[in-house]
Order: sequence, then C-alpha cells, then structure tokens
Amino acid sequence: MVFNKETIRHLVAVQAQDAIIDGLQKEIGRVPREIAAFQAGLESAKTKLAEAKTKIIGCEKKKKEKELDLAAKEEAIRKHTMELNQVKTNDAFKALQHEIEQAKAAGSQIETDILEIMEGIDSGRKEEKSAAVEFKAVEDKAKVEIGVLENELVELKAKHDAQKAVRDEAAVLVPFDMMRVYNHARMRGKLDAIVPVDGGNCSACRINLAPQMIVEVTKAKALVICESCQRILYKPEPAEKAV
Ligand SMILES: [Zn+2]
Repeated sequence: MVFNKETIRHLVAVQAQDAIIDGLQKEIGRVPREIAAFQAGLESAKTKLAEAKTKIIGCEKKKKEKELDLAAKEEAIRKHTMELNQVKTNDAFKALQHEIEQAKAAGSQIETDILEIMEGIDSGRKEEKSAAVEFKAVEDKAKVEIGVLENELVELKAKHDAQKAVRDEAAVLVPFDMMRVYNHARMRGKLDAIVPVDGGNCSACRINLAPQMIVEVTKAKALVICESCQRILYKPEPAEKAV
C-alpha cells in the first residue's frame, strides 16, 4: 500500500469515526448503570415495605403472647378468689389475698404492655401504608424509565454497530503498519492517536520536534511518530487548519 497524504486523510477519517464510536460506547456503558440505579431504588423501597410488614407481624405475635399471659393471670385470680372461701386459717387467707393482689398487679402491667403493643401495630400499619404508596410510585416510575432506557440501549447498540461497519470499511484503506501504531496508541489510552503538528510541536504532548521530522511529516511519504508520546504526526491541510 502506498503511503501518502491520502493515507493520512483516511486515518484521520478513521479517527473521527472512532471518536463517534467511543462516544456511543460510553453511552452504552452509562445506560445499564442507570437501569441498575432504578432497580436498586426499587429494591430499597421493597425492603422498606417488607420491614414494615415484619414489624406488624412481630407486634401481633407479641400481643397474642401477652393476651395468653393475661388470661392466665385472670384465671389465677378467679381460682384464688374461690379458694378464699375454703381456707381455715388467717395466715392462709392472707397468703391467698397476697397472691391475688400480685396477680392483679401483674395483669394490670400486662394490659399496659398490650396497649403499647397495639400502638406499635397502629404505627406499623401507618408505616406499611406509606411504604406501599412509596413502593408503588417507585415501581411505576422505574417501569417507565427502565423501558425508555432499554429502548435507548437497543438504539445505541444499532448505531454503534452501523458506525463500526463504516469505520472498519474506512480502516481497510489505511496501511497495516500505520493502523498497528494507531491502535497501539489508542489501546494505551491515547484516543487521539494521530495528531497534527502545530508549528514545530506535537500538538498533543507539545514537545518540540526536530526540523528533519517536520520535513518528513510535510512530505508525508512515511509514517512519522512523535518520539515523546508515540502518536502519529501529520501536517494539517489548510482547510483543517482553519477548524
Ligand atoms: Zn507527542
């Protein structure tokens, strides 16, 4: 393949297409992250709702236990009250009375506990209700947004593939050696792998180029690489200079 100004033009065109592809790839990478953010928001809303439900279930279980405790105390009071009529000694009578008093006090405490638990259930239900509303809102929004993003991703991928085909076709016109240097520089993060000389300098790394190099670049008969940054150098044509 002949190396000339035309070759340079082809590679500059390939680079312009690669820049578009890079932009598309960045977009393609962004979309799944945005989808994941919506999914994470949905998960967190779901967890909140589940937590509110678990809290209510826990309170209801505790309430049942307390109610059983209370029933046991009431049964004890009933039993001891009946026994009061059967005791023979004053001491036994007093002992029973004492037990009744204790059972009543314990029962009263349990009733207070049950009231507190019921308040907990009430606030739990309120939390559950607002968590459910929040979840529904997050879910509705996520559904719509994820749908939009998924469509966007399909479009971006199609654009990317089409652009890649155009780019590959253009790359065929660039000599293999030149393409290798170009790809190597890009792989190392230098996306502007071919750069114009700017006066006597490499326009990318700003190093001052030897006059002989400038002559070579101007002739455009061979591949000239910046010794400092390993980018391919070319002399911009007048039209490009204006840009
Ligand atoms: Zn350079």
